[in-house]
Amino acid sequence: MSGKLYLVATPIGNLEDITLRALRILKEVDIIAAEDTRHTLGLLNHFEISKPLISYYKQNESTRSAELVEKLKEGKDIAIVSDAGTPGISDPGEQIVRCAIQEKIEIVPIPGACAFVNALISSGMPTREFCFLGFLSMVKKERKETLEEIKYETKTLIFYEAPHKLKNTLENMLEILGNRNIVLAREITKIHEEFIRGKISNILENLEEIKGEFVIIVEGNCESKKDIEIKNLNQMNLDEQYKFYENQGLSKKEIIKQIAKDRNVNKNEIYQYFLEK
Ligand code: SAM
Repeated sequence: MSGKLYLVATPIGNLEDITLRALRILKEVDIIAAEDTRHTLGLLNHFEISKPLISYYKQNESTRSAELVEKLKEGKDIAIVSDAGTPGISDPGEQIVRCAIQEKIEIVPIPGACAFVNALISSGMPTREFCFLGFLSMVKKERKETLEEIKYETKTLIFYEAPHKLKNTLENMLEILGNRNIVLAREITKIHEEFIRGKISNILENLEEIKGEFVIIVEGNCESKKDIEIKNLNQMNLDEQYKFYENQGLSKKEIIKQIAKDRNVNKNEIYQYFLEK
């Protein structure tokens, strides 16, 4: 019988943030596959757990996934842990889960800390709907393209960022998303935990003093792309708007219906206008 693949969340700073279940699973499994074995050894030593460790990091994720799945098929139970937080969230984990699913191996999540969830719930920004984007690309052009793509997103936006790239990323955000309200969730669960709230420009002005690990929470666009398009259309007069939809190949009936919808008026009013003309 195959073993089980456990995805074990570990603390993101404060070592108290590990669950009793996570500790039990780490004690019970045959192997722990860790992003950085030295880092995980520190955690295991703290909790007096002694287990064989195998490295499982971004660069060896595909070959290691295949090897680990073989061990699972032999009946070994394996726990995947990352350096901090939940495996698979901007951390290795995704590939082995896919390989294990193909081999019909049972996947067991062991919930716990995750930086972005705790940043979001403390941010004061809408939590009902959000977009988690993880790390933006290191390539300037790709980073800007991603920001352009989500410019009109109305949901709360969440990013991870390395401290030395924070300034640059905020500058890109200011340029492309505009001067929005953001929250820098800093050093969550650690001694210097702090939530820095304000407009991007204000935060940039004081950035020299800021150090540590960050999640960036950005307010969504207050108007969706559709709202902006409708606003622009409604700034046209009726004849211009008619022409706009005509150029899109709509029939007269469809145009009248669409204009009425955009302007939130009865379509007979619009029909009457064009009839009188
Ligand atoms: N798997 C992790 C999780 O569940 O959140 C994320 C790992 S990702 C490689 C590391 C990034 O997460 C950091 O660059 C930072 O953006 C964020 N992060 C991790 N720990 C944090 C903390 N204590 N406070 C703020 N951000 C943190």
